[in-house]
Amino acid sequence: MIFFGSKGKVVTGEAVQGVQCPSCENSQHASFGILNYFHLYWIPTFLTSRKVGMECTHCKRTLVGDEVPSHLVDQIKSGVFTTGNTLPMFSGLIIIGLIAIGFSYVGQQADAREATYITQPAVSDYYVVDFREIYSEADAEYPYGLMRVTNVSPSGIEMRVGNMIYNLASSVKKDIRDGKAAAENYYGPETIVFELAELQELKNSGAIHSIQR
Ligand SMILES: [Zn+2]
Repeated sequence: MIFFGSKGKVVTGEAVQGVQCPSCENSQHASFGILNYFHLYWIPTFLTSRKVGMECTHCKRTLVGDEVPSHLVDQIKSGVFTTGNTLPMFSGLIIIGLIAIGFSYVGQQADAREATYITQPAVSDYYVVDFREIYSEADAEYPYGLMRVTNVSPSGIEMRVGNMIYNLASSVKKDIRDGKAAAENYYGPETIVFELAELQELKNSGAIHSIQR
């Protein structure tokens, strides 16, 4: 369940002189700002509206938004909507942005690793593949599978093909993590030989989903 919604926060500003209270004619007011924000799990994520207001120090009558005399609006705004008051209202967006940067960094690292693996294949590398891009008769519902490098020589990269097919690439990765894909009987007896350039083409066409070492 995701908790979200809107909330408001009141920040106090400086004293305002010289405007008569419509109720008690006192001329001393305190100013304030109302920051309405959208929250995700109670973390302010972005501002939805800002309003200024003033409160009579004597009778506590408040004037909000359009009720505030227009010549005072900018003065009150600059006192209450400071960076220090408004920036924390975007904490959620800042956090989301940092997480996104983190994920994209991790993704770039993985891409860089795979680029190295594919130009310098090694025995025991795992290739998670989409068989639809390799065999025309591949099962559309269970298109993913695994190939493992058994030999690297100038004449090509020799691989064995796993016996299992999967509907998700993540399930293939799980079998690698769990050690199932390390078992001898996971693979069929035949081998396929690829040239280095062919591997790059298979990567470019999406046939090679990912590589693990
Ligand atoms: Zn008053």
